[in-house]
Amino acid sequence: MSLDSEALLDLSLSRGTLNRNGLGRRDGDPVAAALANSDTRIVDLTGGRALTCRVDGQLRLVHRAPRFADSAAQTLYLGHDVDGTDYVAVLHEEGDPGAEAPPGRGWRNLREAGAELDDLESGVLTTAVALANWHARHQFCPRCGALTVVEEGGWVRRCTVDGSQHYPRTDAAIIVAVTDPDERILLARGPHWPEGRMSVLAGFVEAGESLEAAVHREVMEEVGLTLTDLTYRGNQPWPFPASLMVGFRARAEQTRLTLDETEIVEASWFTRGELSFAARSGQVALPPRVSIARILIEHWHGGPIEAVSDVAATADPRAAR
Ligand SMILES: [Zn+2]
Repeated sequence: MSLDSEALLDLSLSRGTLNRNGLGRRDGDPVAAALANSDTRIVDLTGGRALTCRVDGQLRLVHRAPRFADSAAQTLYLGHDVDGTDYVAVLHEEGDPGAEAPPGRGWRNLREAGAELDDLESGVLTTAVALANWHARHQFCPRCGALTVVEEGGWVRRCTVDGSQHYPRTDAAIIVAVTDPDERILLARGPHWPEGRMSVLAGFVEAGESLEAAVHREVMEEVGLTLTDLTYRGNQPWPFPASLMVGFRARAEQTRLTLDETEIVEASWFTRGELSFAARSGQVALPPRVSIARILIEHWHGGPIEAVSDVAATADPRAAR
């Protein structure tokens, strides 16, 4: 792996400027303190979606002031902005009647909104979704199975029996744009993806494994290629539910593919012209713009790629403008 002179990638979900207030949130109850302040900005979340609107064309989160009922809801202290204004996420059950979007506003998830929000709000939503997904899956102590309770505004869960503390987990995954000696890129399709959906190779880092070893292992297992010139390209959180995607580029000396059919049902090499054509005509659906996969592909391509699949993604009826 080398850190060469090429700039690292500009990644939508790594832009956050929210101060998580890691030291301050340990004192007392940061949620109660924030809810007592009418300047605090509440972000309502339901099923991973936040209310959004457009202001002069810019997508924004719709914040509100705290309400009395918030103290009885599931709440997460997210941190504060440069002016010291606190942000708290309030989680609602999916299908909550309060979750109807008023006219001109729409509930968007992080995949839909993450690339369009500004740096602060992209970080607010990424953090809120990451924490909410962790709490939804970690109610019980991994040591003894007893119920755990929330501390530090949602950044810790403590076991009610043995007192052990548990922290939000992040699972490292590698993702790699592999090119051949003719500068073609390798794209592949997983077994549960719709027809036409293609992306670069990715996989979780295993226990006791380095990032670089994971890249070599995944690519060998999935398509049977050996790699050279592995280069780190950047990383971004991908809280679906708990990944951190670490991006690389690498070269393959050979082009013959041997697929692991349980992981990969289809894989092909594309020239830049072939991929633009396939994306524009809808033969290939590219990963969303918010993903590191898309940015790795577009960086290889030398600029943005127009894809029919992007138009379909923004036509979501739940995301009214
Ligand atoms: Zn326990």
